[in-house]
Amino acid sequence: MTIQDLINEAHKITGKYRPSDECTSGAVGAALITRDGNVYTGVNIDASCGIGFCAEHSAIAEMLKHRESEIEILVAVNTRKEILPPCGRCRELIYQINKANANTKIILNLNDTITLKELLPLHWLDI
Ligand SMILES: [Zn+2]
Repeated sequence: MTIQDLINEAHKITGKYRPSDECTSGAVGAALITRDGNVYTGVNIDASCGIGFCAEHSAIAEMLKHRESEIEILVAVNTRKEILPPCGRCRELIYQINKANANTKIILNLNDTITLKELLPLHWLDI
């Protein structure tokens, strides 16, 4: 699977959905490939009082459901297919579910990736 293919996987599940007046979902989609080569995806949830979560969270939950935790590469995109690097909370989650994910490649654009450890240096668990 190419970087473009993974971006397409993340984008095809985007599309704003409003299940209630207080909640929207699908503004962002994430897709990841595990060490075993499986692809998992997820969408964000925005809800009142800040109780939603990022698309990366739901893709990670889908991965954990299949008892995998090591991520090779990950991307998140909005409905316009613009790539969004993971927020600080997601960076922390990715690392805490498996320290090997320090080497996870985060897609920045079609030609560039950056590792999680470059985005999350001097991690508090390792100091
Ligand atoms: Zn996030």
